[in-house]
Amino acid sequence: EGRDLHYLPDLPGEDPYQAGHRTCAGCGPAIEYRWTLKAAGENTVLAGPTGCMYVANSTYLCTPYTVPWAHTPIASGGSFTSGMAAGYEALIRKGRYDGPYPNIIVMAGDGSAADIGLGSISGALYRDHDALFVCYDNECYANTGIQTSPTTPYAGMTTFTPFGSKIPEGKSLPPKNLARMMAEGHPHCYVATTTVGYPVDLMNKTRKGLNRQGAAFLHCFTPCQKGWVYQTSMTVELGRRVVEAGLFPVWEYDPETREYSYFHPPVQRPVTDYLAMQGRFGHMLPEHVARMQRSANQNWVDIGMDVPDELLDL
Ligand code: SF4
Ligand code: MG
Repeated sequence: EGRDLHYLPDLPGEDPYQAGHRTCAGCGPAIEYRWTLKAAGENTVLAGPTGCMYVANSTYLCTPYTVPWAHTPIASGGSFTSGMAAGYEALIRKGRYDGPYPNIIVMAGDGSAADIGLGSISGALYRDHDALFVCYDNECYANTGIQTSPTTPYAGMTTFTPFGSKIPEGKSLPPKNLARMMAEGHPHCYVATTTVGYPVDLMNKTRKGLNRQGAAFLHCFTPCQKGWVYQTSMTVELGRRVVEAGLFPVWEYDPETREYSYFHPPVQRPVTDYLAMQGRFGHMLPEHVARMQRSANQNWVDIGMDVPDELLDL
């Protein structure tokens, strides 16, 4: 509570995610990849279901990784990773692999983790394979041209949720609460949320998930400048503002105590401080903004914080 998540201590020298990828300038998922792999280090094997970070990171047999990496179909990140974990366990048991058990990480976009590949990741969490499952959430299907996904927020404009006279808010459904669903549905797993606005928190939770024997799930908020339409230098700022606006609670679920602990940001802002930075929300009417503020206010209450008076009547 109130911890300073901005403090940067000495960071590891390793960079298993190197230059040479082809993501857009300011790509949030690329920032998440770099910090996660820095925290994991070189004894790591990676899987990437189809998504931006598969397509943009691997072209014509070139990848930016210094560690082994494999692509999986969008639906099978969880089953592929289960197979890797079972494979390493068997090799070590039979004395055919000398090295220590590696960090096994799958990084799946929201289209994979929250939608098409949800069943396979849930299966892997349920069976408690010793691996870290990361959802890098850019709230849309970005690599196929910004279609809506289950985590696209209310009123977020995508090519499948345009605004018009019939549906002036663009997207009318609220987002799927993926991380809560993973924690409540797999109570024996370590589950946490984080954003690219808090690199040390992201790295600490990566390590916590990896150090624990068994399955861990990390949900990381990662802005996508192409899909969200903002200035490319604002990615990290958006990763903080979404938390300060009460729209993406940062928390950790401890499977031993079955308790959630919540980060209480030192600054609380109106949702407009976050929405106004992004073109995808430019069509919102006052009643849509008010609905968004009400849902942020509910989040403040859920994480044990007071709603500032000036935000109550919006
Ligand atoms: Fe990153 Fe979005 Fe560009 Fe994909 S479309 S590479 S997620 S900024
Ligand atoms: Mg996505």
